[in-house]
Amino acid sequence: MYKEITQYISNKNVTLVAVSKTKPIQAIMPLYKQGQRIFGENRVQEMVEKYSQMPKDIQWHLIGHLQKNKVKYIAPFVSMIHSVDSFDLLKVINKQAKRNDRIIPVLLQFHIAQEESKYGLRIDEGLEIIQSLHTHPMDNISIRGVMGMATFSDDTELVRSEFRKLKAYYDLLKSQQYVQTDSFNQISMGMSGDYKIAIEEGSTMIRVGSAIFGERG
Ligand SMILES: *Cc1c(COP(=O)(O)O)cnc(C)c1O
Repeated sequence: MYKEITQYISNKNVTLVAVSKTKPIQAIMPLYKQGQRIFGENRVQEMVEKYSQMPKDIQWHLIGHLQKNKVKYIAPFVSMIHSVDSFDLLKVINKQAKRNDRIIPVLLQFHIAQEESKYGLRIDEGLEIIQSLHTHPMDNISIRGVMGMATFSDDTELVRSEFRKLKAYYDLLKSQQYVQTDSFNQISMGMSGDYKIAIEEGSTMIRVGSAIFGERG
């Protein structure tokens, strides 16, 4: 499905993050050879291992929940962290980025699904984080936008309404006084089952795994 997906987004302003979690390097390299350079992983250790063994021009995106004590392992090389869900985590990322003399791009992850189990901020918490940055500036992170996961459901209207909610959160955050509006420009939403709906609702970054690599075991 890789060709179909890249073709589908080719005339749209959408970036594909190929979600390679659980897949071995031999399964990922063919995609690299076809030109894919952005890969998404949800576990720190797996991402570090793949980073060390794969070509260095790959951009690694961390899309899964991130524990504060593991930030140091990915800070030297991670291209984007999609899953920032607390101010404390942001502080740790900033500190580790500074230690590595770099700026790490991040997204704020919001809870938009009906399921209880999914991680993510409420909008009031997101606004609070943005406002806190005014009094606690962080020079080594760049907040690039928002991320969210819709309910895993066949109910396309439910899924659509959740993506719409994330887009509204994005618009609200972007309108805040302390947001760098030029670089706050990413909405990471849409997976294998719902990326077309997500794009219709304003996604700029889709995270697709099983539709490219096949089901995970
Ligand atoms: C696994 C995962 C994806 C990709 O899911 P698919 O349904 O395989 O496309 C996207 N986003 C996150 C956060 C994930 O953990």
